[in-house]
Amino acid sequence: MTDRSPLRDLSAPPFATRHIGPADADQARMLQVVGYASVDDLVAVAVPEAIRATDPLDLPAAASETEALAELRALAAGNRVLTSMIGLGYHDTVTPAVIRRNLLENPGWYTAYTPYQPEISQGRLEALLNFQTVVADLTGLEVAGASLLDEATAAAEGMTLARRAGRAKSPVFVVDADALPQTRAVLATRAEPLGIELVEADLTAGLPDGELFGVLVQYPGASGRVADFRAVADQAHARGALVVAAADLLALTLLEAPGTLGADIAAGSSQRFGVPLGFGGPHAGYLAVREGLQRQLPGRLVGVSQDAAGRPAYRLALQTREQHIRREKATSNICTAQVLLAVIAGMYAVYHGPDGLRRIAQRVHRHAAVLAAGLREGGVEVVHDDFFDTVLARVPGRAEGVVAAARERGINLRPAGPDHVGVTCDETTTTGHLAAVWAAFGLPGVLPEDLDTSTADALPEALLRRTDFLTHPVFQAHRSETAMLRYLRRLQDKDIALDRSMIPLGSCTMKLNATTEMEPITWPEFAGLHPFAPADQAEGYLRLIDDLSRWLAEVTGYDAVSLQPNAGSQGEFAGLLAIRAYHRSRGEHERDVCLIPSSAHGTNAASAVMAGMRVVVIACDDRGNVDLADLDVKIERHRDRLAAIMVTYPSTHGVYEETITEICERVHRAGGQVYVDGANLNALVGLARPGAFGADVSHLNLHKTFCIPHGGGGPGVGPVAVRAHLAGFLPGHPLAGGGPVGPVAAAPYGSAGILPISWAYVRMMGADGLRAATEQAILSANYLARRLAPHYPVLYTGREGLVAHECIVDLRPITKETGVTVDDVAKRLIDYGFHAPTMSFPVAGTLMIEPTESEDLAELDRFCDAMIAIREEIAKVASGEYDRADNPLRGAPHTADCLVTDDWKHPYGRAEAAYPVPAVREAKYWPPVRRIDQAYGDRNLVCSCPPLEAYED
Ligand SMILES: *Cc1c(COP(=O)(O)O)cnc(C)c1O
Repeated sequence: MTDRSPLRDLSAPPFATRHIGPADADQARMLQVVGYASVDDLVAVAVPEAIRATDPLDLPAAASETEALAELRALAAGNRVLTSMIGLGYHDTVTPAVIRRNLLENPGWYTAYTPYQPEISQGRLEALLNFQTVVADLTGLEVAGASLLDEATAAAEGMTLARRAGRAKSPVFVVDADALPQTRAVLATRAEPLGIELVEADLTAGLPDGELFGVLVQYPGASGRVADFRAVADQAHARGALVVAAADLLALTLLEAPGTLGADIAAGSSQRFGVPLGFGGPHAGYLAVREGLQRQLPGRLVGVSQDAAGRPAYRLALQTREQHIRREKATSNICTAQVLLAVIAGMYAVYHGPDGLRRIAQRVHRHAAVLAAGLREGGVEVVHDDFFDTVLARVPGRAEGVVAAARERGINLRPAGPDHVGVTCDETTTTGHLAAVWAAFGLPGVLPEDLDTSTADALPEALLRRTDFLTHPVFQAHRSETAMLRYLRRLQDKDIALDRSMIPLGSCTMKLNATTEMEPITWPEFAGLHPFAPADQAEGYLRLIDDLSRWLAEVTGYDAVSLQPNAGSQGEFAGLLAIRAYHRSRGEHERDVCLIPSSAHGTNAASAVMAGMRVVVIACDDRGNVDLADLDVKIERHRDRLAAIMVTYPSTHGVYEETITEICERVHRAGGQVYVDGANLNALVGLARPGAFGADVSHLNLHKTFCIPHGGGGPGVGPVAVRAHLAGFLPGHPLAGGGPVGPVAAAPYGSAGILPISWAYVRMMGADGLRAATEQAILSANYLARRLAPHYPVLYTGREGLVAHECIVDLRPITKETGVTVDDVAKRLIDYGFHAPTMSFPVAGTLMIEPTESEDLAELDRFCDAMIAIREEIAKVASGEYDRADNPLRGAPHTADCLVTDDWKHPYGRAEAAYPVPAVREAKYWPPVRRIDQAYGDRNLVCSCPPLEAYED
């Protein structure tokens, strides 16, 4: 016997070697460039001793891809997917296979970034414009945003929008007693810190007396009832209040649009437009407003503008409303939204068209109508005469029994107290399901054959839809699968996603989203579960959630984790709510000051305001670190009211601040809590743990550090992790329990459907793999910094001139000298086939580059070569060799269309425009539009599909 095991030597390479780009030999070369003998040496210098974790992470040993998939199969088998007739805002739906495979499961779509660089994002921007058109048309309102996180948070945004925009000074917001329970709960969480008084009322009797700034009506109601809210809207308007309608998009194909009935704002979910249930998410929430309110809309809004050739082109509109510009004065803290899911919902509408959607809705409605008729036939009382998809049955004292009997037949119904049962039909409902439901109610399973023909619809005549929708040709032109396939392909080809080239976005951690990690999310056992399904049907999910929560606690050094927040911004809000509730539990109600360094991400300030805190800005010193002297001044000034400090670590400048432990101590001494924004955790995993080096709470971004793809701007998961003293203040949920703090998302576990991605990542990397990834991320960033430093000033560095996992190159001196801006460099990178780094954050006039561990050396070099070649072009501008106003930088990006012309009038050559380095000839990305005029689109706001004539020359 030898101690060598041929079988072990021949086993599959560890997943970490697939996830981490550079191989050993490349790593050695990179170390040489950076000037260290080993990764350990580099890390020992780069990462401050004071925060270094000494023990390795206590995680299960790394599984292979095959093993991880087998374990996930076992977890999936722990879920039991019954037919869901629970309703409450979540409905089973058929994701058209052409959309599932070519969009949801396609890295060309799911690995894209938020479309801040519009020239390389025209495909997803068009898809989002379709989504906005669907929402605007169906709700009968003029402007719809490009998605929010879910229905409940969209309703909350509607509430705060009404408060900002309305005339009424009252703090009262009236909520329909028939609103979804999770919506009411999230509204309560969001209202309390802002001093909004929620008044719940049965609106069938009209609006309660008294002043109010807004009212939310659920249309149709949670109980299924379809009520005409015109009178309520009139009463509200007469008192200076705005009307928010939480509306079901599918119902709106048959029911008159909320905008037509008097709503100023509509909110809801687009989930049932082809997006799997996923145990609660991710799904795209929507928000739409009438003309005049668009500047108050939270979140992203796609608009039409024009490019340098005067052709229509899409880009994000009115960005000055958003948190990254407006900070504590922003309309909301929304950053990551639900782009991928909004795109799916929009494509579902494109594929079915208005007639197809109407037919699906009619079928849903017929099933509900026949179901109700059958119940009545059998002597069961049906509570509402007017309904769309949900039948509320009265069964005094028998609700539990009926629900149990249905469960035995494979169907989940919704118990509504001891006496009522709700039954909701959806796109997948069959007559077989109806028979099983009847049987569960104790009726004979077979009912009169003519029940369908003899049963009238149950939609009120006065509310039947009379207004048109989806009249744009895009909703007619893609009805065959071939046409749909090619439309998806055409849009995908317009964009740069990770399947083409590295996306070096600082602070965004665009790393590998491995196929093995992605595969489970569309397995029916994960995709098909309703978020309010009984816990014993979700055992697989609950085990997965428990594993992941424990692993994340281990990685971060905290004691408890909530996976409910469905974006980093929502994690921030939840974390600050925990801090607030903690102070209050100790009788320290006056603590409401949140210290935030000037370099912070915009979400931090916006979240603090949402949590009822006052933002006090701390200066940064000239090395980009928190200015300790200013910190002391501000602590002293606000000592008695200090609630928290929010710092990002490593700092948003990509530097490990040496003083972090000191900052934590000073804030603690003054009675404040320390919030560490964990978006940059990719620089810490396996090396340092915020919960151990002095912080009390952090949010993480699973869509950054833990491999959930960005999806073009969402989905995300923003878990909040806390030390033990805050554990009791994590977000609860009305349908899943919890402590004094209410939910921050509609579903108990937020976007549970994508948690298998992060589970698989941690499971396959193990402690060593995770640490190796962090080390490589640090090495790669320093390698980039070293290669670029001779050409561009690198702005901030820490010890020995090292950076953490990202670096900032400073264009400002270059701009001053040559007039070439960050914008010019960003657009010129497109001609080289790259997505630009993060522009002008956290410092205006700079580019922040984050390579991540996943990019191999060849790709890093290709990017550096492009940046260096661009620097040489800039030098030609400086020397006068290139015209100052008309050069390849200013003209970038160059479309094929602008080059293939007999009438080329620029002083530089076409080949140097399109093929600036030889490598580009091998695999050329052709941008579909030239540089886009941002201001034009804001002056001429168009946020739904423009007429085809707009595209004619
Ligand atoms: C990305 C990011 C956030 C916000 O996360 P979202 O998921 O986009 O809401 C907050 N802080 C920092 C430093 C970030 O990089």
